[in-house]
Amino acid sequence: MTVVELIERKRDGGRIAPAELRALMAAYAKGEVPDYQLSAFAMAVFFRGMDDAETEALMAAMLESGSRLALDHLAVPRVDKHSTGGVGDKVSIPLAPLIAACGVAVPMMSGRGLGHTGGTLDKLESIPGFRTRLSLAEAAAQVERLHCVLIGQTAEIAPADRRFYALRDATATVEAIPLIAASIMSKKLAEGLTGLVLDVKTGAGAFMTKLDDSLRLARTMIAIGERHGCPTVALLTDMDAPLGEACGNAVEVVESVELLKGRGPADLREVTLALGAEMLLVAGVDADRAAARARLERTLASGAALEKFRAIVQAQGGDPRVVDDPEGTLAAAPVRSVFTAERAGIVQRVEPRVIGRAITALGGGRTKVEDGIDPAVGFLIHARPGTVVAKGDPLATILAPDAAREAEARAALARAISLGDEAPAPRPLVSHRITARGVEELPVAGAS
Ligand code: URA
Repeated sequence: MTVVELIERKRDGGRIAPAELRALMAAYAKGEVPDYQLSAFAMAVFFRGMDDAETEALMAAMLESGSRLALDHLAVPRVDKHSTGGVGDKVSIPLAPLIAACGVAVPMMSGRGLGHTGGTLDKLESIPGFRTRLSLAEAAAQVERLHCVLIGQTAEIAPADRRFYALRDATATVEAIPLIAASIMSKKLAEGLTGLVLDVKTGAGAFMTKLDDSLRLARTMIAIGERHGCPTVALLTDMDAPLGEACGNAVEVVESVELLKGRGPADLREVTLALGAEMLLVAGVDADRAAARARLERTLASGAALEKFRAIVQAQGGDPRVVDDPEGTLAAAPVRSVFTAERAGIVQRVEPRVIGRAITALGGGRTKVEDGIDPAVGFLIHARPGTVVAKGDPLATILAPDAAREAEARAALARAISLGDEAPAPRPLVSHRITARGVEELPVAGAS
């Protein structure tokens, strides 16, 4: 069977057998299938989808293209959280040290910016010296010592996904449930976890904008996790507006440090604590959500989570001054200006995709795989849907590399933030909890 025949079959709505998918991905990982053929295949999957067996086979092929973290000898549970991606979603940065400070090992493997969404690795690398490219042996040693490591996919972990992920980003083929599920789960299962919590985003800034698709994505990933003996839970969280205020790279690290100091925006704190409680539950540290929340609050208030973050930054070569003086340690944008309300009213929408794309246009995201990132640029979005503003009130702060791009960013904000006279319908911040047993609608904990 040639690659062209596989592309044709998927294009025409046919099924690819597990053995064929394994062979395709193994050949791709070795560089024997050119990117243009795999992009055509990805586009065919985007339009035709994959059934459960195909998705499982794709995931397994990517997982088996590399090695796994060997952490079975650790006496503590090993739990990770993974988000399907959003704008302003910096939850991983405060959450990983917070959970590690609660005595759970968190071997966190994150991604780079994808499409309009930011990537934890790009954000962490805005800390001078911070190394996200650790070998598996280094990562395992750090998890043993500190119970936490914040790394990217190495050449050793699911290398087929690593190449495919970058290719999908550049070919508009990210938003496909089987491709997202296989990509995320191949990396997570390589971490040798005893439990996994997924943050499945829903809304205009998520890859899955509709509730039904987000639920389907969650169920697909949970089924894969459970089949591989990794208890997996998902929370559906809102991505109809950016999460928190900071959107970019360095600014998101600043806001993460704020959260670890017990401050920071309420929506970011709520999503972080909700996911954190699920991590403690799946780890078996606490028996109920109230006890898990109380433990998280105590660990934040005691400063233990902040000190864990300091230790991780130091261990990975980063400048630990980021903990005490983040703004003085991280790169600052040359141009900083305020975007104000042109009229009095109520904020209707803050379009996360427009903000995400504007960050890329400022230089904070990639348009090509090989692009570098300007860590200093981005936005502070002060406006939230439902905020009442007077004419001239600040809606956002622009962090730009030069005047020309500041003007473009200003135009993007004018498109992204709309004002009206009626209060918009509030959206639940954390709406559903999904497990292998089913879907539970959650009581409203906060609204964006
Ligand atoms: N995160 C991933 O790791 N992969 C995707 O495809 C989307 C989000």
